[in-house]
Amino acid sequence: MMKKTRREFIKLAALSGAGIAAAPLAAEASAPIAANEEAVGMLYDATLCVGCKACVASCKNVNDMDAAPAPNDADRLWDAPEDLDYRTRNIIKLYKDGEGDFSYVKYQCMHCIKPSCVSACPVGAMQQEKGRGIVFYDKDICIGCRYCQVACPFNIPKFEWPKAFPKIVKCDLCKFTNLKDKGIPACCDVCPTKAVIFGKRDFLLAEAKKRIAENPDKYQKEIYGEFEVGGTNVIYIAGETFDNLGFRELEHDSNAAFSENIQHTIYKGFVAPVALYGFLAFVALKNRKNHHGHGHGHDAKHEDKHGSEK
Ligand code: SF4
Ligand code: SF4
Ligand code: SF4
Repeated sequence: MMKKTRREFIKLAALSGAGIAAAPLAAEASAPIAANEEAVGMLYDATLCVGCKACVASCKNVNDMDAAPAPNDADRLWDAPEDLDYRTRNIIKLYKDGEGDFSYVKYQCMHCIKPSCVSACPVGAMQQEKGRGIVFYDKDICIGCRYCQVACPFNIPKFEWPKAFPKIVKCDLCKFTNLKDKGIPACCDVCPTKAVIFGKRDFLLAEAKKRIAENPDKYQKEIYGEFEVGGTNVIYIAGETFDNLGFRELEHDSNAAFSENIQHTIYKGFVAPVALYGFLAFVALKNRKNHHGHGHGHDAKHEDKHGSEK
């Protein structure tokens, strides 16, 4: 067993407060996780994106999402989503600085290799497909606890607050729609500049490395998602820093391994739900800075295409 780091002790201390210190937890930090060679995802190259938002419209069309009119659209005629929400699985934002530099950035589920949302879900409504690694959701199982929202380090799952029987909404790589019908997610299908492409993660990672090596002056040298939270199947390359694009620096281990330990302990020992609340409180604290910085409407550096501050 690995020696416990200070962080692990803090985790265990948090759990002690939740009343499960006596449980035989093995809260090891997880090493970077190797993706399944069948894993699929997307590569978004911010330097190729022209901000046309065809991907946003296509995502909505194929997944039958409601329109999200702007608040000042009295007739509610125009779909103008400002952020990810229960009507919008995929959004494009614009970063601008005061010196004329700018970059578009696309947000949707990152399809983590070791997804915290899946680990936190107590009933198995949030699931990960074996092989391809797609993280998807079964609304028929969901009990609406929203633990997946708390657990996600990228602030992705959204809840249908206005609906009578709300469910969680997030990108599923078009698993049940365009990917099933045409073999490609809708956003990648329509992108006119191939700023977002679909494929096996291994291929996408190699392609990202190739582009950076061939144009070192054009790109930041890191690939976002290669290692963050154990790696994600949606990866990014960009000319702007990822901090400017709303992506905060994240640890290379995944919350998921930790939450799995807790889930297993809870169910094995029939420990009261307070243990789960302890875990969620810990993850909520850990994620809070990310939720305020990932760029999903919380970062003042971001504007939409029309220049309104988000
Ligand atoms: S980005 Fe969030 S919702 Fe998507 S797989 Fe990762 S933890 Fe789950
Ligand atoms: S993969 Fe499908 S659901 Fe996900 S952002 Fe692209 S179009 Fe939307
Ligand atoms: S369709 Fe392609 S170029 Fe247009 S906003 Fe989306 S990712 Fe960017």
